[in-house]
Amino acid sequence: MSDKVCVVGSVAFDSIETPEGRADDVLGGASTYFSVAASFFAPVNMVGIVGSDFPEQEKDFLASRGINLDGLVEAEGETFRWHGRYHENMNVRDTLDLKLNVFEHFAPELPQSYRDSEFVFLANIQPSLQARVLEQLVGPKFVGADTMDHWIEESRDELLALLANVDLLSINDSEAALLSGTGNMVGAAKRVLEMGPDHLVVKRGEYGALQFSSDDVFAVPAFPLETVIDPTGAGDTFAGGLFGSLAEAGEINKKSLRRAVVYGSVVASFTVERFGMERFKSLTRDDIERRYGAFMALTDFHGD
Ligand code: AMP
Repeated sequence: MSDKVCVVGSVAFDSIETPEGRADDVLGGASTYFSVAASFFAPVNMVGIVGSDFPEQEKDFLASRGINLDGLVEAEGETFRWHGRYHENMNVRDTLDLKLNVFEHFAPELPQSYRDSEFVFLANIQPSLQARVLEQLVGPKFVGADTMDHWIEESRDELLALLANVDLLSINDSEAALLSGTGNMVGAAKRVLEMGPDHLVVKRGEYGALQFSSDDVFAVPAFPLETVIDPTGAGDTFAGGLFGSLAEAGEINKKSLRRAVVYGSVVASFTVERFGMERFKSLTRDDIERRYGAFMALTDFHGD
């Protein structure tokens, strides 16, 4: 039996514009994307807040993936809404509108049944709320976190206090540069690892990801796809695949970490093939395994 993964973060309705088209009010949010991705590997305890407008059918979809929704609170009001537009270069996007709604008063309270979760991911929310979740857990094995430019700039002290208790930080390259004060990723990793985490994963969009640990540096490409429809959620599903795979293994070592980073990349590559969470409605573990195999062939530099 796999270890359990607990995740806290946003649950949203997204309106997304990309060079390939648009989608309005589709299910999104970091906690949602992460949970769905991790659910292919391990039991997931999801924490988040939705409004009274959140349809039963979306809950049914999450429940159909076996995700535990006891920690998904429903509050009076509307669900968090985000509207983003991607540039022709889809590594770049602008936030056109963001309505926090019920998310503004989010004070995560973990159900008793979540507190022994072994693997924890604190998705991108205010660092003091991430810390509040961490305090409620009983001796987690492995803690991961994400953050964003806003918290690095506006809540730096809270973020640094949190990082002292985090095992793996998963951020993108511009966030790593902002946090560390250097745009060189090797230098950035050295500084971030001094802040507390044992591992830093730097997400680089279509260029893949880098994992830095004290005893290892590992690089994976993004899986090359002919058409990218919508990159939303790629980072969160990358983290979901990574943490799901680690929880399935139940142990942290060089091998399980490298495998987890590859599973993260594989799951993220499915996310971007359709708008929102659409691709996950039909995805199977077999699909994931097939692409994992293709990934091995892609990166086999022996050529055997
Ligand atoms: P990603 O593309 O992996 O960075 O994640 C995209 C998801 O993050 C979308 O589904 C949004 O709903 C959510 N999101 C956007 N802005 C924020 C924010 N400021 N705080 C929390 N979640 C956000």
